[in-house]
Formats: sequence, C-alpha cells, structure tokens
Amino acid sequence: MRAVYPGSFDPLTLGHLDLIERGAVLFEGLVVAVLQNPSKTPTFSLEQRLRQLRAATAHLDRVDVRSFDGLTVNVARESGAGVILRGLRAMSDFEFELQLAHTNKSLAPQLETMFLATAVHHSFLSSSVVKEVARFGGDVSRMVPKGVAEDLKTLFNRSSPSR
Ligand code: ADP
Repeated sequence: MRAVYPGSFDPLTLGHLDLIERGAVLFEGLVVAVLQNPSKTPTFSLEQRLRQLRAATAHLDRVDVRSFDGLTVNVARESGAGVILRGLRAMSDFEFELQLAHTNKSLAPQLETMFLATAVHHSFLSSSVVKEVARFGGDVSRMVPKGVAEDLKTLFNRSSPSR
C-alpha cells in the first residue's frame, strides 16, 4: 500500500522528517505532498520547500516529493495512495485532525487516514515555533535539517549564538 503525507512544510522540521522516515518503513511508497496554497503567502516559496524536502529525503528510496494544490483526496488518488498519513503531537492537534479525517472520508470513502504519534522529543516542534526561534537568532540546529537551518539563517540574516 502507498501513502501520501500532505502538509505545508513551511519549513520542514525534524518532526516532519521523523514521520517521513517511519512512514517509509511502513508503506511500499510514500508521497510527500507539499501544499501550494495560493490564498496563503508562505514564508518559503514552493520551490524552496520542495528543495528542502528532496535534499532531506534523498536517502529514502521509497519517498517521492511533489507539490499539490487543492484537495488532499485528489493528490492521494493521483499518487495511487490508499492512506493519508498525518502526525499527532498533542491533544491540541486532535480535534482539527479528526475533522480533516472525517471530511476526507466523506469525500473519498476508500481512503483511510492514519496517524503516527510524534517522537516525544519532537512533540514541541512546529514550523511556526522554528521560525520564531530563528527570527530572534536562536539555535535551530536540533529542530530542522541542516539545509533548512541555512535557509532560515539567510532569511532572517542572523547568526545563531554559540551554545
Ligand atoms: P498543515 O498545514 O497541513 O498542518 P504542517 O506542515 O504544519 O501542515 O504539518 C503536516 C503534518 O505533519 C500534520 O499532520 C502535523 O500534525 C504533522 N506534524 C507537524 N509537526 C510535527 C512534529 N513535530 N512531529 C510529528 N508530526 C508533525
């Protein structure tokens, strides 16, 4: 069975990457689908987010990275996926994720949503937290892959304080 892991990945964090690595073990193929939402202005362009993901997943044969616009159920169908993979960090994710899962089930009853619990040491990580830390010059090296840390540094034009 193939799965699709949709998200904004703005930017990719080590929490996302942990989910991708575990998903690549569980499924025959995993398509990481990056949302190109024209109504929202992302911090990183679609091209940058695709590049970050491709660099960080180059060692994973079963992982493909692509962009999508519109409904997750459509990208799942186009990718030949039977499962939508999502991550759960805390109870605060649960309500929204459950609502999404029910919506997707009503749109495409043959598709299942499966959740992986985040690795506990990544449970506090989100793209927005990472951006806040980087904006104020904090060290994000344990939160994001190396390439993303460099992109954040360029974006905010600050150097991380030494630990
Ligand atoms: P979206 O805008 O679709 O929520 P995100 O890029 O924020 O996109 O998240 C994509 C998926 O990754 C969501 O299911 C989210 O719960 C999960 N996720 C985000 N951060 C982490 C993390 N630190 N550990 C595990 N899963 C995560």
